[in-house]
Amino acid sequence: MTTTPTPRTPAAALDTRAIHAGQEPDPTTGAVVPPIYMTSTFKQDAVGEPRHGYDYSRSVNPTRRAFDEQLAAVEGTRHALSFASGLAAIDVLLRATMRPGDRILLGNDVYGGTYRLLAQVFQPWGVGLDVVDMADTAAVSAALAAAPHRWVWVETPTNPMLGIVDIAATAAVAHAHGARVAVDNTFASPALQHPLADGADAVAYSTTKYIGGHSDVIGGAIVTDDDELAGQVAFLRNAAGAVPSPFDSWLDIRGLKTLPLRMRRHSVNALKVAQWLESQPSQVVSRVWYPGLASHPGHAIAARQMHGGFGGMVSVQLAGGQEAAKRFVQGTRLFTLAESLGGVESLIEHPGAMTHASVAGTTLQVPDDLVRLSVGIEDADDLIADLGQALRRI
Ligand SMILES: *Cc1c(COP(=O)(O)O)cnc(C)c1O
Repeated sequence: MTTTPTPRTPAAALDTRAIHAGQEPDPTTGAVVPPIYMTSTFKQDAVGEPRHGYDYSRSVNPTRRAFDEQLAAVEGTRHALSFASGLAAIDVLLRATMRPGDRILLGNDVYGGTYRLLAQVFQPWGVGLDVVDMADTAAVSAALAAAPHRWVWVETPTNPMLGIVDIAATAAVAHAHGARVAVDNTFASPALQHPLADGADAVAYSTTKYIGGHSDVIGGAIVTDDDELAGQVAFLRNAAGAVPSPFDSWLDIRGLKTLPLRMRRHSVNALKVAQWLESQPSQVVSRVWYPGLASHPGHAIAARQMHGGFGGMVSVQLAGGQEAAKRFVQGTRLFTLAESLGGVESLIEHPGAMTHASVAGTTLQVPDDLVRLSVGIEDADDLIADLGQALRRI
């Protein structure tokens, strides 16, 4: 039920850890790739003596353990716990550590599903929710001084506005007020950003996105260096049971092996796309949001905090408003009109009507002229040509 700690400072570089950590050849057959242990239960050698601790797959499964060890090593931390979805991971982290009467401080630009979970599930159970501009450290400090908070929930870059939060500065303020910091690191991934090294207490992932990387699995994870916190999360993962299947874990393992390689290409392509969009006439493209652009208000912090690239997500506002935005997302051919992000193939969407429809009318509402791009790893010139033909037809 507890996780297997991996060394805090693994000897190998990130690209090597991604491929080798947790991937010992199968002891029975020597299979180089961890088998998909599609079994719910395990034969015990004697009553109460499960072999190597494997008793029941909700509690422990060899394929899931291989992914958890691989992810912990990539993150450079002691514990990683995978879940059936990103939201299941977030739910368990918060439910394991919060009680009615506790408060959580949330950025005003977080993933809509996280806000919905807190506002519509946790809040009715008695958990207090405050929303601030997380990039404004003075506002964070004021909110924490006004009432004690159990958690400060950070996303950076944010979804869909690509806002940047200074993790180290936020962690310092939060810790001074006795609050813990969780970072949803889904957009940057462990290849580009290391929140635990910057002072965060826990990191959450939707592995559905860059870690899986191929738009073929729903999954999530919590990583932390804190033994007690990991124990609480591990207990509730087993007690409540939102575990990934062995096949899900196998897909996550395969994705994570190429994560560093893919993130470099996503970042190169996204920067080219963002620069090209920014070069369009302002009567067509009014604003481009990408942390790799010098025009981005969080560029300096992102350049310090992210390593080896600024990720694959680009958002753009169109001068023609909501109608132009909708025509644009329906006019691309290579970019597929779809929710989600982080796969090898490029996707495009209208957050106001799609991913962020659930936050309409709240403090998290997004502009209706906004288009979000998940820039894939295809040829950048082909992607730009596709955006060009779609823009000409809005
Ligand atoms: C998708 C996403 C989630 C939720 O993950 P699921 O796997 O869809 O449950 C959480 N945070 C961010 C930033 C996401 O993009």
